[in-house]
Amino acid sequence: MPGVQDRVALVTGAAQGIGAAIAQRLAADGAKVGVLDLQQEAAQAVVDEITSAGGSAIALGADVSQREQVQAAVDTLAGEFGGLQILVNNAGVLRDNLLFKMGDDDWDTVMNVHLKGAFLCSNIAQKHMVDAKYGRIVSMSSTSARGNRGQANYSTAKAGLQGLTKTLAIELGPFGVTANAIAPGFIETAMTKATAERVGTTIEQMREGAAKALPVRRGGLPEDIANAARFFAGEEAGYVTGQVLYVDGGSGLH
Ligand code: NAD
Repeated sequence: MPGVQDRVALVTGAAQGIGAAIAQRLAADGAKVGVLDLQQEAAQAVVDEITSAGGSAIALGADVSQREQVQAAVDTLAGEFGGLQILVNNAGVLRDNLLFKMGDDDWDTVMNVHLKGAFLCSNIAQKHMVDAKYGRIVSMSSTSARGNRGQANYSTAKAGLQGLTKTLAIELGPFGVTANAIAPGFIETAMTKATAERVGTTIEQMREGAAKALPVRRGGLPEDIANAARFFAGEEAGYVTGQVLYVDGGSGLH
């Protein structure tokens, strides 16, 4: 069975942006996809696009930081399509603030969605993968894992996801399950649009800045991340595990 054909995939935070692009790419390549998001209606719209293009998907309304909701979503997906072999931990939020202004809520919300969410989804999904002796887990880190002004919470969570990824790779490798992370740089989505507004600029100016500064001379698009996720999610990537792939137009190069 090559690629992701007929595999069952769960993509979290897939109602828009990077998650939606990953869900669409996996479905286009033959996977049956659970489009999970807090925003169930928007998730349904992504499902409608997938099914009208001839793919298979269902919308799952859930908060990744709540165990019962994740369990119910995984049960529904596995019940509908039979099993679960690909998990993409993508759901995320920003609560940016300089350290001296950062409140407990800003910290807890970011930790709960990125870290606890990825833990819960991996913890619940691994049962299906280990039973089937096959699985692919892909988690969304960030270039902010290296540290970023105003993101003490987010950069900690994104670095944490790299540690989780390596540990999952070690523990689950013997069962045919790989775990890898993607660290995107600037990607044009609603999240970066909100960041632009917060820092008093526009997404267009950010795009122009990226085009000037980055070795590849352009900003990133959700499809750039979907291409990397599709690689890690595929059967052919079975000898690649515990890796962090920076998909950032070369922003870390000097
Ligand atoms: P986005 O804000 O456009 O989409 C995030 C999605 O996650 C939304 O649909 C939102 O409803 C969903 N979500 C939030 N909290 C949730 C929860 N508790 N349970 C379920 N769903 C929830 O963001 P994006 O730019 O597409 O980012 C996707 C991922 O990529 C995030 O993890 C983000 O941190 C990471 N990332 C993005 C960039 C970028 O430049 N856009 C860069 C590096 C990393």
